[in-house]
Parts: sequence; C-alpha cells; structure tokens
Amino acid sequence: MSEQSFTCDRCGRDRLRRQMKEVMFEEGRERIRKQLCSTCLDEVMRASGEVHGIVGQEKKAAIHLSRAPDDIR
Ligand SMILES: [Zn+2]
Repeated sequence: MSEQSFTCDRCGRDRLRRQMKEVMFEEGRERIRKQLCSTCLDEVMRASGEVHGIVGQEKKAAIHLSRAPDDIR
C-alpha cells in the first residue's frame, strides 16, 4: 500500500501525508492555510513571535501564527 504524500509549501519537498503540519495565519482579511513539513514548522515557529495551537482543517492540531511568515508566500 503506497502512502499518500504532500509537498511542503515552504521547502517544496515531498513528505508523507501523516507528517504534514498545518499552519494558518491571516493576511489582510484572508485566512491562509499552508502545509509544512516538521522541519519548516520548527523554523517558522522560531521565527514568528506568537504561536497558538488551533484545530486544523485536516488535522486535529494546527498552528496559528500571529503574523504571516516572511518566507512563505
Ligand atoms: Zn518543508
């Protein structure tokens, strides 16, 4: 059985779907949702000041950033 994969929105690497981390933030009035690998999540969390845990769209736990990361567009 082949496992589903996803492509990280930050580094562009293909990873296993179950390792996907959801990250959300607001840009203007829009809520942006990104799929990150755990490495990128760590870096984004370190770079952004305030981080909250929220319920994700696909995952039970997602990360909400108080401001948009500079390196994800
Ligand atoms: Zn990544």
